[in-house]
Amino acid sequence: MKILLVYAHPEPRSLNAALRDVAIKELEDQGHEVRVSDLYAEAWQSQVNRADFPLLAPDARLVVVAASKEAFEADALTPDVSAEIEKLRWADALILQFPIWWYAMPAILKGWVDRVFAYGFAYGVGEHSDKWWGDRFGQGTLVGKRAMLIVTTGGWEEHYGARGINGPIDDLLFPINHGILYYPGYDVLPPFVAYRVDGLDAGGFEPTAERLRERMRTLATTPPIPYRQQNGGDYLIPSLHLRPELGDPGATGFGLHVAGGRNQEAGGAAKSNMSVD
Ligand code: FAD
Repeated sequence: MKILLVYAHPEPRSLNAALRDVAIKELEDQGHEVRVSDLYAEAWQSQVNRADFPLLAPDARLVVVAASKEAFEADALTPDVSAEIEKLRWADALILQFPIWWYAMPAILKGWVDRVFAYGFAYGVGEHSDKWWGDRFGQGTLVGKRAMLIVTTGGWEEHYGARGINGPIDDLLFPINHGILYYPGYDVLPPFVAYRVDGLDAGGFEPTAERLRERMRTLATTPPIPYRQQNGGDYLIPSLHLRPELGDPGATGFGLHVAGGRNQEAGGAAKSNMSVD
């Protein structure tokens, strides 16, 4: 497979850097081809701004959605953004790797998504009407490709458990896994999570590295999280509400959007999420 690893950590000697190298080596040992977008090393511009849209007249009001559509259709996105889109088209699998910062991805990576996931490429794809709300959530430009997260946390696995104070890890990662990766069509694999890493010593590193190697060895075969397809019949259109007969009665929240319920997602993730203690 061809794999793009988008990596966001500012320190080349960090734990994340060491885990990135473990992942790359294992993937290459398996015969895969790997390209890396190292966002800090490349001084990636994280803010969307006017300069992203060279076709925009100097006195025109910037409407980002419209400007993104125009630039994508005219092949007039900036070279840095176009290069990332080309890598995404090239890759059979996308890996996003980052430390959890404030319950989310570092701003530089969010900015990569904001700028690279252009209108017409990652969103605004397909018919948009009262009968069809776009090709997304199971359809879209990146359908047939796989994606997964590699993340590290300071918090313990229990803190991210079903009753943990941080909220379930699957809920925290839902906006990324479902909202960013499933949206344009990726099959999203359960994440690799290394918990409680701030006190990790050399002895704790190897078990974590081995668990990561195993996930890299099974990148092509790990079953994806069974998110429900928007246009697969589970949702009413155009309200996009889950049909009332689906899901547990009275249930709300992110788990509803996993076929068979959150246990499916948690079950899949539990096999792959790793505590380092
Ligand atoms: P590093 O600091 O580089 O290393 C962590 C430990 O691993 C060190 O003790 C290091 O010695 C050791 N180590 C062992 N082997 C190696 C090796 N081979 N190479 C390098 N290091 C090794 N955590 C949460 O859970 N939730 C949050 O919301 C959250 N918000 C945060 C917000 C900010 C702004 C910051 C800075 C941190 C936050 N954290 C949070 C903690 C954060 O997730 C962790 O600090 C991060 O995941 C650690 O990854 P790192 O690569 O930076 O580790």
